[in-house]
Amino acid sequence: MDEADVRDRLREVEDPDLGDDIVSLGLVNDVTVEGETASISLALGAPYAPNETQIADQVREVLAEAGLEADLSARVEDDVPPDEQILPGVKNVIAVASGKGGVGKSTLAVNIAAGLSQLGARVGLFDADVYGPNVPRMVDADEHPHATEEEKLIPPEKYGLKLMSMAFLVGEDDPVIWRGPMVHKVLTQLWEDVEWGQLDYMVVDLPPGTGDTQLTLLQSVPVTGAVIVTTPQDVALDDARKGLRMFGKHDTPVLGIAENMSTFRCPDCGSEHDIFGRGGGAAFAEENDMPFLGAIPIDPSVRTGGDEGKPIVLDEDSETGDAFRVLTENVANNVGVLNRREQE
Ligand code: ADP
Repeated sequence: MDEADVRDRLREVEDPDLGDDIVSLGLVNDVTVEGETASISLALGAPYAPNETQIADQVREVLAEAGLEADLSARVEDDVPPDEQILPGVKNVIAVASGKGGVGKSTLAVNIAAGLSQLGARVGLFDADVYGPNVPRMVDADEHPHATEEEKLIPPEKYGLKLMSMAFLVGEDDPVIWRGPMVHKVLTQLWEDVEWGQLDYMVVDLPPGTGDTQLTLLQSVPVTGAVIVTTPQDVALDDARKGLRMFGKHDTPVLGIAENMSTFRCPDCGSEHDIFGRGGGAAFAEENDMPFLGAIPIDPSVRTGGDEGKPIVLDEDSETGDAFRVLTENVANNVGVLNRREQE
């Protein structure tokens, strides 16, 4: 078996999202064969995304059938040289956005981050919601960042997440009245002064709305893709539409639409009530040719989990936890899709 034979064999591996084999899609970079071992570098960019794990497993299987052991590495090409990157150690930046407040944007950001960490990824959670920074409470962060001698900030960790929030610097209950340019300055500084280390994913909780703050933020960091959070009713969807337009204007890819508070499972009677309607998010996603990432029910334990600092995605026995796990996997899979599409 030489390198060409190995490449040939790898044509048997289909990409579950892009509908072609991994060789034709340009996802197989270097191949070297030494004795019984084939070292292969794959253009995979979303660590622990189930569909990328599946690709890697199939590569191992195909090689095993040919009597070879696989030594796999994964890397996507980046056009920007490392010393010019703002966050060189961060593979993917996921922005969580909503057209307006109160739809559960922070809740989803926290649960997606904790869900990715649960999958095994190295994750940072950046609370950029300067007007209502509540992420530290939602994960019950008991530590604050500390500064190194080089004046870098070391982010505290909780549930394996590296955390940064304006709340650490100004206090959660202090009303912060910022003007746009100040927000821009403070946020950019926070990005650059934090020792994030090596991360597979950085989840950013954006401030609600589609104003200047969001725009400057999108300009200052390389966002891989955005998750747009909405509730099912028409007024919320109108706001989500504005969000879509904002990302479109900035050429920021959208990972998809997530619907929160999509139905209410009544703990007393056991039946479901569609308080804000249902299915609006999925229909909206379809209308705009976007992936639908998942629907999260109204569940009082989401709020208590948030208040007590324990994201419900970490509760293995909860059905709503299952909904968040599905959402997390879809987010990771779609990060993978965006990265792999760029290799073509
Ligand atoms: P946003 O970031 O959009 O302003 P939050 O995530 O802060 O919204 O959520 C607003 C409130 O709604 C919080 O108290 C949160 O715990 C609660 N909440 C969010 N999603 C759900 C849900 N699916 N079920 C029950 N309560 C929820």
